[in-house]
Amino acid sequence: MKNIIIFGAPGSGKGTHAAVLKENFNLKHVSTGDLLRAEIKHGTELGLKAKDIISQGKLVSDSIVIGMITNFVKENKDCNGFIFDGFPRTIAQAEELDKIMATINSKIHGVIFLDVEKAELIKRILFRGKESGRADDQDESIIENRVSVYNKDTSPVKEYYSKKNIVKSVHAQGSSIEEIYKRVEVVYKSI
Ligand code: AMP
Repeated sequence: MKNIIIFGAPGSGKGTHAAVLKENFNLKHVSTGDLLRAEIKHGTELGLKAKDIISQGKLVSDSIVIGMITNFVKENKDCNGFIFDGFPRTIAQAEELDKIMATINSKIHGVIFLDVEKAELIKRILFRGKESGRADDQDESIIENRVSVYNKDTSPVKEYYSKKNIVKSVHAQGSSIEEIYKRVEVVYKSI
């Protein structure tokens, strides 16, 4: 089993590349953002709680996303490998993920960091907002807030894994999606 985190700021391309890695290497891909949007769509109690927070560009509580990931890992414990996308986003989530993986006698083997500059992130998210209709992708001040939350709360997670020597960076702008994916795949294979 080889487990990776696809890591980067909002708009860095995590979901795009995770979807291709999943297909090519028969992995289980879990995006906490996608799971939360599904809860909102189905109008669940959890979805109602999450909706306001997401629309402000803030993070939902650690306990909510940790619960979702715990269930997903338990349900797929015999798979080839996991790709975590949009999780962990705080140090508390990262520490909890180590514990969750230990319960299935495994661990995180590598972190693929998609390196993209802020101006490019904002451009991509606004473009995605037009295509997808995602409310949190359409308002520039909410997007700015998401990038600040990333810088403040989420970028320390990269340091957490750097200390374990398992972070690999990919230059993830200025080329086609296909070209960038090729770099991601080379890095994935090296983990
Ligand atoms: P994403 O699709 O990954 O950009 O996530 C969309 C939104 O869902 C984020 O801006 C957060 O409000 C929320 N979210 C997703 N994943 C997490 C997480 N791991 N921790 C806290 N909030 C999250």
